[in-house]
Amino acid sequence: MDNCEQEYRRKVGHRAESPKEKGKMLWKKVKYQLVEYHSLPAFLKDNEFILGHYRSEWPLKQIFFSVFSIHNETLNVWTHLIGFLLFLTLTIHTVMKIPYVVDLHKFENVREDLKTSLPLAHVLPSLSSWRSAKFLPNYIPEQFSQRNHSDVCALHSIKENVANTIAPVMVRPITRWPFFAFLGGAMFCLLASSMCHLLSCHSKRLSYIMLRLDYAGIATIISTSFYPPVYYSFMCNPFFCNLYLGFITLLGMGTIIGSLLPVFDRSEFRSIRASLFFAMGFSGVVPILHKLIMFWHQPEALHTTGYEVLMGSLYGLGALVYAMRVPERWIPGKVDIAGHSHQLFHILVLAGALTHYRAGLVYLKWRDLEGC
Ligand SMILES: [Zn+2]
Repeated sequence: MDNCEQEYRRKVGHRAESPKEKGKMLWKKVKYQLVEYHSLPAFLKDNEFILGHYRSEWPLKQIFFSVFSIHNETLNVWTHLIGFLLFLTLTIHTVMKIPYVVDLHKFENVREDLKTSLPLAHVLPSLSSWRSAKFLPNYIPEQFSQRNHSDVCALHSIKENVANTIAPVMVRPITRWPFFAFLGGAMFCLLASSMCHLLSCHSKRLSYIMLRLDYAGIATIISTSFYPPVYYSFMCNPFFCNLYLGFITLLGMGTIIGSLLPVFDRSEFRSIRASLFFAMGFSGVVPILHKLIMFWHQPEALHTTGYEVLMGSLYGLGALVYAMRVPERWIPGKVDIAGHSHQLFHILVLAGALTHYRAGLVYLKWRDLEGC
């Protein structure tokens, strides 16, 4: 190569490539191309009706970038990643807004009620229904009950003070931990699932770990979904509250431990896996029926049950689609990228979780206003 040619190549940015370099680049291109089902290693063979567009044993760097490319896991990753971000937003919204929406409205009502119904001789019986009426004696100024007030101004001022002191105590919202347990469980499940779909194709070892995390996420969202309905329905009956919460927590932990067995993620175990998660969710029928018997006259009990039936139907349909592998069973290879059963299952799970969030808001409003 003479000087002129070298100068020309430098100017047009043309690199001199040896056959070895060319071969390397070509191998790289071929290596990170999507492959078909029949050329997958055994640990990635899960659904024989999805014929192509698989990533197989890629390095982590390529895998992370593949979140923005099209393959048969792209929508599985994104459906639950968007779901996770949605639940993160809802959690922040719940922390910042939900208590005050209820409280401010109620605070003013309580304050005005107290001001108009004082002196206390009249107000005390009407307070018996408030759950925090037990705090009342601590907040009544001593002189109020001991002195004979003829001075109207002094009486007015005491009324104002008492109303301002008692009202915040009476509007203290009910504990939020069961609702946050559910939101946390939902976020864990959605993020674990999304990461599992993104990373599992890396190696057998990582696939094993990520699948366990995915099963743990499913068991967690099912278990924590029980927390708001059970806690807010039976908060005044600690025996049943602890019984139902203890049962579902132990069942969830048992499922997570069981999923550590290597046989759990074998493809022939798919139906048993789906049935186990289905049975976990279905056991929620017992506390829901119990709630309906106890609060049949309460509109909130019917309202929340409506949401729970809808949620159960969405999860149930999701489990059915997951186990049957439709529609790809009917049209193999046609829904590899979009429309296969796992994507439908993800969307149904997300819809079920959002329905449960709505039910949780009804429970909070109910118990905030009525207490036990
Ligand atoms: Zn999934």
